Amino acid sequence: KAKKHLGQHFLTDENIARKIVEGLSFNNYKNVMEVGPGMGVLTKYLLEKDQHIYLAEIDKESIEYLKNNYSIITEKTFVGDFLKQDFSFVNDEQIAIIGNFPYNISSQILFQIIDHYELIPEMVGMFQKEVAERTAAVPRTKDYGILSVLVQAYYDTSYLFTVHENVFNPPPKVKSGVIRLTRNPKEGLAGNEILFKQIVKAGFNQRRKKLSNALKVLTIPEALKTHEFLDKRAEELSVTDFIGFAALWKANQ
Ligand code: SAM
Repeated sequence: KAKKHLGQHFLTDENIARKIVEGLSFNNYKNVMEVGPGMGVLTKYLLEKDQHIYLAEIDKESIEYLKNNYSIITEKTFVGDFLKQDFSFVNDEQIAIIGNFPYNISSQILFQIIDHYELIPEMVGMFQKEVAERTAAVPRTKDYGILSVLVQAYYDTSYLFTVHENVFNPPPKVKSGVIRLTRNPKEGLAGNEILFKQIVKAGFNQRRKKLSNALKVLTIPEALKTHEFLDKRAEELSVTDFIGFAALWKANQ
């Protein structure tokens, strides 16, 4: 029986499962981690590939099911809670991420990926459609926000396809969307990452206000007080604008 508090909705459509797995390139990395394999609808296609497969699953019943049904899955295949991974076991090798994610922790999953972007070249996964759209959103749209800017600072994002509620058991309340992230950290970010994140979060936390107001919580450096961006709202700035602004801020602190 599906456990609601673990975000369990099991995909029942094999064609969609195969399409999600084929969303990964399987190029230039030896490892893949699946988040929340559940009963293995994606896992069985992953096991056909050459990569080493790690499974992050916290549901004991799912773990037992997978061990009993796939001879090559053993206790050693499992790494536990995805949000607690430090990926040290890959010894600096690259590892791609895939999953039909538990929707109650969507943002944390994305933040966990960008926190380890140096090890993670690629991600393909399913989120609730709204989160998938926010991740891929462009400036001056209602979906463009913290998630869009933080993810796109490290990854190129593409929205692959929408998935209907009725191919899950039990069906979720909303539609789902599959996205692909391809690592491409933007220039100028290194060394300013904390400040960059603070500026993005403060800017969008009061997204109706001009940045001159929204960023007051951070004490704007004197030299930036007449900067043209302060006359704009967060949603008007591109990812590159935010990165450049954070660099300038740091230089004038
Ligand atoms: N992959 C399966 C499928 O497509 O049918 C199950 C997907 S279900 C939406 C999400 C899965 O994530 C569940 O199996 C749940 O137990 C697991 N899960 C929930 N929280 C997790 C966490 N923090 N780390 C790893 N897995 C988690």
